[in-house]
Amino acid sequence: MRRAVCPGSFDPITNGHLDIIGRAAKLYDVVHVAIMINPSKKGLFTVEERIELIREATADYGNIEVEAFHGLLVDFCKQREIPAIIRGLRAVSDFDYELQMAQMNIGLSGVETLFVPTNPTYSFLSSSLVKEVATWGGDVSHLLPPAVNAALVQRLAER
Ligand code: ADP
Repeated sequence: MRRAVCPGSFDPITNGHLDIIGRAAKLYDVVHVAIMINPSKKGLFTVEERIELIREATADYGNIEVEAFHGLLVDFCKQREIPAIIRGLRAVSDFDYELQMAQMNIGLSGVETLFVPTNPTYSFLSSSLVKEVATWGGDVSHLLPPAVNAALVQRLAER
């Protein structure tokens, strides 16, 4: 089985994430989507909610496993015999940080990082920007899976 992981915060998953996950799913037998838990960052959605939204958005691919992980990404990979991390690159501004992480991770454990260039349609898209625009009433439905947009609208209305 050829395995890879798409790690991130996914708070919430966007069409940009989905594009990367879907492309990875065509290259690997199993793609793990790992929600990396950062205790110092309180998300808009709970980890359980994020898992549910990702499961629903990726159900049709048939080879996606979604779970949360608390700890180092390289340990997640080691425990599941995953040799490759897939990261999306949106712009040059992503590159510095991603290069550092990739070099750290290969040094720690030998796990490779593969960069996938973003679909230009989504190169400006991030979970935080979507949340900001939606907070002020902007329509972001074309940037999110339908269930995610519904959950976002509802969560913001509750506040
Ligand atoms: P992180 O905080 O670890 O960057 P994110 O949830 O923001 O977590 O992103 C997870 C992964 O998805 C990263 O590799 C990121 O570059 C990629 N990604 C995020 N948004 C997009 C997008 N619009 N197009 C392509 N890749 C994206």
